[in-house]
Formats: sequence, structure tokens, C-alpha cells
Amino acid sequence: MTDKLILESVLTCPECGHSKMETMPTNACQWFYECERCHSLLKPKAGDCCVYCSYGSVPCPPIQQAPAQKGKGACCSA
Ligand SMILES: [Zn+2]
Repeated sequence: MTDKLILESVLTCPECGHSKMETMPTNACQWFYECERCHSLLKPKAGDCCVYCSYGSVPCPPIQQAPAQKGKGACCSA
């Protein structure tokens, strides 16, 4: 196996700038994320499949596994 999935992503809140390392699930996409500091509920930007793709330092695992398929549809459209 040559998988080199990165499962830790630093999410940065667009409202207050707070950053936090989170571990991403490999089998599901996370649509919502509540900032622990300002309690804003973050949602993916248009065209992104999950909050990690929009606000994280690393794209979500399904995206990493399917680099040929850009953006939405690669992981959440099952
Ligand atoms: Zn925040």
C-alpha cells in the first residue's frame, strides 16, 4: 500500500481566524464545523465538498485519493 493520506488538517475559522488541528474522517465528509472560539457554524463554500476543503490546510481524504477529479463530485456524490 502506498497510500499517504493526511488525516490531520488545520481548520481556520473565517470569522475569527482561530485555527485548530482536527482529524478528518476517511469515510465521510464533514459538512458542518463549529468554531470552538466564536461558535460560528462553518459550511463548505460553493464547489467544495466539506469544511476541510474550504477551510482546512489539507483537502479531505477522498479528494487526496482522487486527485484527477477536482472539486465536488469526487467524494460526496455517492
Ligand atoms: Zn471562529
